[in-house]
Amino acid sequence: MDHFHLVDRALHCEGVSLEAIAAAAGTPTYVYSSATMDRHAAVMQQAVAGAGSGEPLVAYAVKANPNAHVLARLGKAGLGADVVSIGEYRRARAAGIAPERIVFSGVGKTAEEMAEALAGGLLQFNVESMEEARTLSAVAAEQGRAAPMGFRINPDVSAGTHAKITTGTADNKFGIAAGDALTFTREAASLPGLAVHGVTVHIGSQLVSLEPLEQAFRRLGELIAALREDGCDIRIADLGGGLGVPHGPGQPEPPSPEAYGHMVRRVTADWNTRLLFEPGRLIVGNAGVLLTRVVRVKPGVRAPWLIVDAGMNDLMRPALYDAYHRIEAVRPSGVSQVVNVVGPVCETGDTFTMDREMDRVEAGDLIVFRTAGAYGATLSSGYNSRPLAAEVLVDGDRWALIRRRVDPDALAGVETAEWQ
Ligand SMILES: *Cc1c(COP(=O)(O)O)cnc(C)c1O
Repeated sequence: MDHFHLVDRALHCEGVSLEAIAAAAGTPTYVYSSATMDRHAAVMQQAVAGAGSGEPLVAYAVKANPNAHVLARLGKAGLGADVVSIGEYRRARAAGIAPERIVFSGVGKTAEEMAEALAGGLLQFNVESMEEARTLSAVAAEQGRAAPMGFRINPDVSAGTHAKITTGTADNKFGIAAGDALTFTREAASLPGLAVHGVTVHIGSQLVSLEPLEQAFRRLGELIAALREDGCDIRIADLGGGLGVPHGPGQPEPPSPEAYGHMVRRVTADWNTRLLFEPGRLIVGNAGVLLTRVVRVKPGVRAPWLIVDAGMNDLMRPALYDAYHRIEAVRPSGVSQVVNVVGPVCETGDTFTMDREMDRVEAGDLIVFRTAGAYGATLSSGYNSRPLAAEVLVDGDRWALIRRRVDPDALAGVETAEWQ
């Protein structure tokens, strides 16, 4: 459920008209609903409440939407953070998220990143190779600290989602093979500065079935038992993120967070570990739209081209992994039309959809791409010397600009090159 709805025949976010936002902030602009984020945070926390031993921790995957104001809101809603770079770590801390609620994932953490996060404090490094464990050991030994860590296990399970968002099969770069877990854990435990108390999996994103997740969790459960038998004190099992979100009629309906929670409880009943979760999309996906204006309508062979002022540089998901976004007119005409929706960028990939039935709109009208709160603004670029879209946060009947439109010249950062 989200808080985008029609009021007096025009689309609103909570109590604020999207027409008013477009008039004041311009387009294209990302618009986020605080109430929707709060709701999703609460639903996820309730879905896993009481699972595992000790307090479960829902660590929001910051990469989905790292806007500082979004992070602060989610931190207040009780979420921790899953970060994949020191930039995300700093943002999470600046947003007030406590170190003991932060986990650090990613295959390419540098020694400098590890050192800063270790000194600043965190719950756990999710380590993705033996080579990374050795670097972490050196960093920790130098600081005279013990680095809390868990290996990310690649369970070799296909997530049944798009190949570009599949992360848990043997030929993906992520994690260590389950078959290596015992030897690597033994080796890590023998190194100075490493406290191996966790294990983690994350098999992909926008999953619309619980089966691959359950399969991955079962493998993790077997591994926890084997590691314990080997003398390793596993206390934390981080089950990753990946649960899909509904995209509207005609699209696959993902399992509910409640169903996910029931499955988790069933599978982890005898694990005797604290459970962590890393949802990203589930929390913010349907809490955001990309608001854009139709520049012109150009006749086409199959259908007219609806050319909008948002491009693939603003919302890359359709070009990157054929993502579906529901498209709605801000002021629905009630007359339907089949169109191709494209941006102004000089790439054929700058196509949001072909042959889409939607409300008839004309040049100057506003439309929205729904489910744009996750992997939207954060994936944007200045390609074609286009500015980065603005971001707006709505709270009830108030709204605030939370990222100014960024001029392409500001992205360059250097006005006069200083030759060395
Ligand atoms: C991207 C990512 C997530 C979040 O995935 P969602 O599909 O947004 O829930 C969680 N954990 C890790 C390690 C990730 O890379």
